[in-house]
Amino acid sequence: MIINSQFDSGNIIVKSADTPQDIRLEIRPDNQSEFLQWFHFRVSNVAGVSLKMTIENAGDAAYVDGWPGYKARASYDRETWFMVDTSFDGQNLIIEHGCESDTVWFAYFAPFSMDRHFDLVAWAGQSPIAKNVVLGKTLDGQDLDMIVIDRQDENSVAAEKKLNCWLIARQHPGESMAEWWMEGVLNTLLDESHPITNELLEQCRFYIVPNMNPDGSYRGHLRTNAAGANLNREWANPTMENSPEVYLVRQKMHEMGVDFHMDVHGDEAIPHNFIAGYEAINGLDPDHQALFDKFEQHLATSTPEFQAEAGYPKAQPNSSDMKKCTDYTAGTFKCLAMTLEMPFKDHDNNHDPVLGWSPVRCGGLAQDCLASLLSMLPDIKAYKAKISG
Ligand SMILES: [Zn+2]
Repeated sequence: MIINSQFDSGNIIVKSADTPQDIRLEIRPDNQSEFLQWFHFRVSNVAGVSLKMTIENAGDAAYVDGWPGYKARASYDRETWFMVDTSFDGQNLIIEHGCESDTVWFAYFAPFSMDRHFDLVAWAGQSPIAKNVVLGKTLDGQDLDMIVIDRQDENSVAAEKKLNCWLIARQHPGESMAEWWMEGVLNTLLDESHPITNELLEQCRFYIVPNMNPDGSYRGHLRTNAAGANLNREWANPTMENSPEVYLVRQKMHEMGVDFHMDVHGDEAIPHNFIAGYEAINGLDPDHQALFDKFEQHLATSTPEFQAEAGYPKAQPNSSDMKKCTDYTAGTFKCLAMTLEMPFKDHDNNHDPVLGWSPVRCGGLAQDCLASLLSMLPDIKAYKAKISG
């Protein structure tokens, strides 16, 4: 039996593995930080073997509430990730599985590798309406990719009237569901026969950053970049030394403008899809808030994969936190902005007992979100006209 995590997004420390029924593991914290929760490793030479693996530092994880009701994901082919028996005793996370193949892969959630990211970006770049832009380099020297989708034809509104729609994902690299969501976005927007795509592309230009944190993704981090920075606390004062990912994207937002923004995440504890908004921003205009409420209601009524009851508690009015992306973009650009959270557990409103919340469903929710954006375009334009006087 061999346990290994020496690969893209791998994370596990083997404390001891004397027998398959007593494997002792720990999750390695993010570099220069104490955040830990993401794990990803393979166990080999185990066909027909029953494994019992104990992650001994699960009780020290960033979100201990993430463990009750959670089930680890496993895969034989690295395509289909299914849930396996998992329990939590307050400190140890215990994963048990009878292996049906020589090698089994285990992860906190279906991984989205940097290789798959490159495949996605390269594929998107072949579309005549998409353009690949590298915004700059990360601290580990990786490229920060953006995809611009902008179609100009006889039905399109004039270039200067197009709405600038920003979609960014994986500020927190362990929230791999966010990039599965991005795959769904690109599959939809680059399929010009898709019923919602045509009208969206007539009126909108899309700026898409499918992975805000390539370094954290490759290193197998939960929450931070190579320097230990939590990117979703960097928006007020990003620097090229500490958070070039945010610095570069924020700079481009100011250059191009923002009329709509989604920042896509995963939530460890809450077993629902939900969005969080900008009710805290200082001097909030009720008409601005109404855009968020209407989008949320549209999405909740159009798909069983979304709901508007469970989520984060509402923040106090006038308690804006510009370090966070959604408050920053909503407060700065007066646009409809939101944080989308998807679960590591399952979406309890619509259970899947085998796969739980899964990559395919992330892609489906992305389509639903784009349909809600389409329904909101008249409201977004009306509000933009109001505030520009
Ligand atoms: Zn997050």
